[in-house]
Amino acid sequence: MSAFTRWEFAFLILFLLWMQWETAFASPSNMKAPWPGGLTYRCNQGNNGSFSHDTPQSIYAWDFGMPLGTPVVAADSGTVYQIGYKANGYGNYIVLKHQNDFFSIYGHLSEVTGQLRAFIHQGSMVGFSGSTGNSTGPHLHFSMIDAKGFSLPSQFCDIGIPKEGNFYTSANYPLSQRIQFHKKTQPKPG
Ligand SMILES: [Zn+2]
Repeated sequence: MSAFTRWEFAFLILFLLWMQWETAFASPSNMKAPWPGGLTYRCNQGNNGSFSHDTPQSIYAWDFGMPLGTPVVAADSGTVYQIGYKANGYGNYIVLKHQNDFFSIYGHLSEVTGQLRAFIHQGSMVGFSGSTGNSTGPHLHFSMIDAKGFSLPSQFCDIGIPKEGNFYTSANYPLSQRIQFHKKTQPKPG
């Protein structure tokens, strides 16, 4: 204590508390793999991927190969901010809004199941995987984005920062009677 005055010490404590608050809320730290727990899928393209993750909108995105109709679930709790269709982009997609203006996007879905402005719990469904839009095969495009759609560096608390070519097992909530594989086999545009 001799090196600090009382006020310097108090200021240091406040600064450390602020630092902890910042790191606790500056990024969504609870994010888990956006498919049901226990299922394992391959990361087909990672951050900075040369195939298509080379724009400010996608540089921190991931593509996970998964069969058509696989339930896609919320990486973290949030409200449905946007639902759309882009023929030469994400196809059927849904955007969730999380705390502190962080958003997550789920693209190329065969079908979106969320309702606009609805609150979605972590692990609850937002849609079924597909290959709509600019896609060469069934996969999920996932990224954290800001309010303008620019991708943000992030990581999952269960699968870390997935790398292209590796397989990852989700520790999100498991499949339940309410969440099952889709009966449909055809992608549904729009
Ligand atoms: Zn992608």
